Amino acid sequence: EPMLDVARVRRDFPILEREVHGKPLIYLDNAATTQTPSAVIETLDDYYRRYNANIHRGLHTLADEATAAYEGTRDKVRAWLGAASSREIIFTRGTTEAINLVANSWGRANLRPGDEILVSLMEHHSNIVPWQMLAEALDVTLKVIPVDERGVLDQAAYRELLGERTRLVCVNHVSNALGTVNPVAEMAREAHAHDALILVDGAQAVPHQRVDVHALGVDFYAFSGHKMYGPTGVGVLYGREALLEAMPPWQGGGEMISRVSFDQGTVYSDIPHKFEAGTPAIAEVIALGAALDWVAATGIDMMAAWEGQLLERATAKLRDVEGLRLIGTAPDKVSVLSFVVDGVHAQDIGLLIDQLGVAIRTGHHCAQPVLASMGLEATCRASLAAYNTPEEVDAFVEALEKVIAMVR
Ligand code: PMP
Repeated sequence: EPMLDVARVRRDFPILEREVHGKPLIYLDNAATTQTPSAVIETLDDYYRRYNANIHRGLHTLADEATAAYEGTRDKVRAWLGAASSREIIFTRGTTEAINLVANSWGRANLRPGDEILVSLMEHHSNIVPWQMLAEALDVTLKVIPVDERGVLDQAAYRELLGERTRLVCVNHVSNALGTVNPVAEMAREAHAHDALILVDGAQAVPHQRVDVHALGVDFYAFSGHKMYGPTGVGVLYGREALLEAMPPWQGGGEMISRVSFDQGTVYSDIPHKFEAGTPAIAEVIALGAALDWVAATGIDMMAAWEGQLLERATAKLRDVEGLRLIGTAPDKVSVLSFVVDGVHAQDIGLLIDQLGVAIRTGHHCAQPVLASMGLEATCRASLAAYNTPEEVDAFVEALEKVIAMVR
């Protein structure tokens, strides 16, 4: 298999040329947000320069062009995820809004007191809090799928938790705090065997591996544009057509209706528009299409293989750092290296290593429950993307050792 030409990839990202505190930027906070290639930046610019217009209701040329580009991205997303129909693709503000949509629409229409939702312990807060809010409102029970000391979901416990009252299973495809890849295809089969649905948070999976919602057999799948080389402010909810059709709208307003009348009532649009009230993030949706084109042209499989090599190299090097403990040692991982260092605050490492030009994240990564289960409040997290290099990995570990020596 041919190797990724990383020098070429890096030339597509103008931001990678900048310096931080007089040092070349080493950007290792990709799980928080990825950088955007020139093609995405130029797509945003081109939209505002040439065809900025509101979509779907204009009869003029600019509105036609904007609508075609917006709906064009919907079809690119459909193809990218292997969905059957572009009616199954809903644009949201991000993963968070996609999950809130399912909670408020599907949840409120389908859940009864005493029903159960299973949520994995390693979820991002965005796949926990909406379910807690719903549980409180509807008297529904949340049950938590436990995680072992490596950061692997306990599948035996999952099977035991699945029961007659289970309606929905909520799990991430990849954990942003640990890097664990969860076996969602298997989990989907088991959920369906109990007549439960499965919602997968794919925010950390879509940028790092090929995802096919049909092969996975999932009911709902969510991701964010800004974590896969696209702009902020846009995300995607995939939902199975029959489910979405039966779901009530969540937000009301323009764009989501076919007729509004005080006397005769209001008729909603068909999916996907039923779930896209108001003017959406038009420029960002179109630019998300450019991000997908960029990933497709670069080659997701080559990107994944390259990142896998970087992850292996970084893991081996970090294991040699004295007093460092990796948090999340699942056999199947992507992108994320979470760690703590004996006697050193994560925050001190983050601040000092920034002085050396290295951007990592420190804190709870919006995943407090799983960290708490490991007796932790915070970790340092370095996370890789396709534009990172072995030289950057080495420089990062060298900088880390310098920082540790400084504070010890
Ligand atoms: N889930 C996971 C696994 C994430 O990593 C993130 C972002 N850190 C989210 C959900 C939330 O995504 P967003 O803030 O883009 O809605």
